[in-house]
Amino acid sequence: MFQVRQTWISVAFFLIVPALRPLAAQPGSESWKDQGIVDVTRSPHAKLHTIPIRAITIDQGFWAERRKTNLEKSIPTMREVLIANGRMENFRRLSGKSKAAQNGPVYGDAHVYKWLEAASFALQSGDVPELHKATEEIISDVVAVQEPGGYLNTYYVEDRASQRMLPAVQSTGHELYNIGHLLQAGIAYYRATGDRKMLDAATRFFDDFIIKSYGPEPDKKPLVSGHPGTELALIELYRMTGRKQYLDLAGYLLRGDSERMPFPQSRYVYMFCGIPFTSRTQLEGHAVRAMYAASGATDYYLETGDPAYWKTLETLWNDLTKSKMYVTGGVGSRGSGEAFGDPYELPNSRAYGESCAAIGNMMWNWRLLLSTGDARFTDIVERVLYNGLNSGMSLSGTTYCYRNPLEYAPESGPIRNSWYTTNCCPSNIQRIFSALPGYIYGTSGDGVYVHLYQNSQLDWRLENGVGLKLSQHTNYPWDGTVDITVTPALASEFTVYVRIPAWSTTTKVAVNGQAMSGVKSGTYLPIRRRWAAGDKLRIQLDMAPKVLTANPQLADDSGRVAIQRGPLVYCLEQLDQNGVTSLSDVAVVLGRNPGSEFRPELRRDLLGGIVLLRHEGVVTQKKLSEEPLYQLFEPVSQRITRPADLTFIPYYVWANREPSAMQLWVRYIQR
Ligand SMILES: [Zn+2]
Repeated sequence: MFQVRQTWISVAFFLIVPALRPLAAQPGSESWKDQGIVDVTRSPHAKLHTIPIRAITIDQGFWAERRKTNLEKSIPTMREVLIANGRMENFRRLSGKSKAAQNGPVYGDAHVYKWLEAASFALQSGDVPELHKATEEIISDVVAVQEPGGYLNTYYVEDRASQRMLPAVQSTGHELYNIGHLLQAGIAYYRATGDRKMLDAATRFFDDFIIKSYGPEPDKKPLVSGHPGTELALIELYRMTGRKQYLDLAGYLLRGDSERMPFPQSRYVYMFCGIPFTSRTQLEGHAVRAMYAASGATDYYLETGDPAYWKTLETLWNDLTKSKMYVTGGVGSRGSGEAFGDPYELPNSRAYGESCAAIGNMMWNWRLLLSTGDARFTDIVERVLYNGLNSGMSLSGTTYCYRNPLEYAPESGPIRNSWYTTNCCPSNIQRIFSALPGYIYGTSGDGVYVHLYQNSQLDWRLENGVGLKLSQHTNYPWDGTVDITVTPALASEFTVYVRIPAWSTTTKVAVNGQAMSGVKSGTYLPIRRRWAAGDKLRIQLDMAPKVLTANPQLADDSGRVAIQRGPLVYCLEQLDQNGVTSLSDVAVVLGRNPGSEFRPELRRDLLGGIVLLRHEGVVTQKKLSEEPLYQLFEPVSQRITRPADLTFIPYYVWANREPSAMQLWVRYIQR
């Protein structure tokens, strides 16, 4: 009851406030070419602004390789797989071009739309005629089936048309989820080409079908997202058009309409929508839904500055980072309901860690970063990107993880597949890799932010209009030295904000050879000075391997450690461990100064080129599986063992050779 009353108070609040101060009545960046991944140019509560993908060129190095695979292998092969699995026939049948029966789940249209978004982001880095043509063909087939009333969906048609938008179908049928993805794809394609046809189709769905008939007004029908994701798309549409009805609709979805649309409490937990977002106190339920809802709520905060939203976002972020996130940045530990678990419920072999949930976590933290400029959010963006998301695509670029466990036995079946009936993850990973240049830098009123380290060329401008080029050279994440040449079009005073990752405990920063003071882990170092063409910035990050321990309440990691070097978390694969028949029998031997005894080894020939880590370990003589379930206590170190030289590889490259057991959290003994 209290929640319902609170809803009406906040409705009243929003009816009054827009009259008192100007909302962003004007659309964002003037040109489609100038719009970033999200365009917060005119968002009143954005501290940082994005830079269009096309302004950053990733030329070589770590992400250049991954992005080349994404563009040349992943995106083209996924198109073929989508077609082979009937996802396009669903559209073509409705235009009379195919006689195939409807095929696939209620969210099958979104599989196509996510691919379109991945392709569109790729085209923002420069035209690829063959991909452009393939994208045009698919867009034509999609928009051809839009009905005169704006409806566009290939599942709720014909015999199922009478079920459209029924309350129960809103909760499970993914109609808004699908169209939210079409809208995101339409925006990305517009920003790639200036072509509006996909954007217009998605907009028509909202204008002609939704907003006319659904909403909080008494003469309209109530609405629930069912699967959040539409909110963030609608707010991006508001940013592009300045039309407040889209922001209002997103706000309505974030508040829910539980009085007119009552669901059992368990359904509100699972859906992470339907009741006021600001009434949430913990992350629970379906992890992807929760992360997309939090992303949309942060977008809503960026536009409105509503303090109740910020308070909830902080509460949820603390819940995430204190007790519900894997060291890989993966989230959603429970297979059942693809859900968040209880605090510290982070099992390793049973970890769900859906690739989409990791992506949602990255998207959410990216938006929190735009709100604040706070490096704690960039640390999570980077942790997810290099680990729990990066693991989701094979090095070949043609197979994908849906789950991303932290421990694995081959007997549990193949972990990477080229296709899933619920094929949400593959193109979701592809769209992030396609959009990656747009995550590297940002601007603020007083300068430029360096968020991520990667060989790249920035050709953009400061917010005062002065042209700015940044040329970044590095072998990151294998090496910690980053050289950036700063070239403003006019020598002028501004601030370069250099991110010092939280994991880098000793970092040196120098400008033209002169050491900077005030360097602090987990912050942006502001370097304000008169910058002139050719100024040299050198950042030396701490690449010493780190040994991590988990909170003792996290029972699954008790007696175990994880290894991290730079942004990369490491793991053991059994096939690299000579003479080891079970990883369960292995322990790493830690000396007085854990971490100091790792031997990094650059291996260009292995797994696409990696730095592996060797370290002293032991194997128990008697297999642990032969020990009884319970026995009299004796210190672990008194087990009879023999030495073993352990080889750790970055987690993201696991499961790229023959099936082999894997372990991220490894038992340890102390010398
Ligand atoms: Zn997924």
